[in-house]
Amino acid sequence: MERHQPPRTIFSFEVFPPKRDMPLDSIYQALGELAELQPDFISVTCGAGGSASGGSTRTIEVTSVIQDKYHREGVVHLPCINFSKEEVLDTLEQMKTKGIRKLLALRGDRVPEVEPKQDFLYAKDLISFVRGHAGDDLQIFAACYPEGHVEAPDLKTDLLYLKEKVDAGVDRLISQLFFDNDYFYEFREKTASLGIHVPIEAGIMPVTSKKQIERMVTLCGATLPRKFQRVLAKYESQPEALRDAGIAFATDQIVDLLGHGVDGIHLYTMNNPYIARKISDSIRSLL
Ligand code: FAD
Repeated sequence: MERHQPPRTIFSFEVFPPKRDMPLDSIYQALGELAELQPDFISVTCGAGGSASGGSTRTIEVTSVIQDKYHREGVVHLPCINFSKEEVLDTLEQMKTKGIRKLLALRGDRVPEVEPKQDFLYAKDLISFVRGHAGDDLQIFAACYPEGHVEAPDLKTDLLYLKEKVDAGVDRLISQLFFDNDYFYEFREKTASLGIHVPIEAGIMPVTSKKQIERMVTLCGATLPRKFQRVLAKYESQPEALRDAGIAFATDQIVDLLGHGVDGIHLYTMNNPYIARKISDSIRSLL
């Protein structure tokens, strides 16, 4: 009798493009090493500044290299708040030309010096617009927040908006980073009870420096567990020890998530193949 194999857990990476004054190939080495780890896809961030900061061109270029040179599937991030409808259509056209079929549809954070274009107020507006134009040709991903989005009055309200967003045409969700898995498990239960049934990938960021983590926690409001705060305090001036502690903590978090049957793990790699490899090697057989 043939034994039924459960579906393998998706394992994916996030990278950011080189700054505009750096050559595109400055990221090739890192991309090559990350691609060797055979993630299911690599997503590429995009600044929220819209055309004022170069639009999505760099993101599309890097995604195209991921697909054509390194033979992994790529996902383009598109934060819409400072994009016009014409610019979004242009992005979709460029993606089609390059054979990119996955989009992470985002609102983006407000950029103080840029006046929002008003064509898209929320990610939901972008998702309806893109679905209307691309039909089922594109796989649409969206963001979700296990501890609630920082601007939302509370998690309950944020979840109601998330439901509207998913119903606008989302295929998969990727979560904001978190350090306490219990928030993620409670969030999963709440989304299911609201009728949100698309797969949710857990966003994991391995900590590499105290400064980096403090910035991230301020930006996204993630709770830092006491045990991890103690590690940060003890090793803050020993970069190698802190990096190793960050890898161990992230690996432990992932093992627990896999044990709880998570749909996917999305690693915020910070373009660092060393850290991604250490974690991949430890969890590969568990996926
Ligand atoms: P939305 O889903 O539109 O939600 C934004 C806020 O509006 C929430 O507080 C929500 O509760 C509220 N809201 C939603 N609908 C309504 C409504 N109808 N009425 C009133 N309030 C409403 N940013 C970038 O600039 N570039 C990136 O590449 C990038 N990549 C990311 C990748 C991931 C996996 C994640 C989790 C985030 C990423 N971000 C990125 C950050 C993201 O753009 C910000 O968190 C942004 O503030 C919210 O984007 P969103 O798509 O979740 O917005």
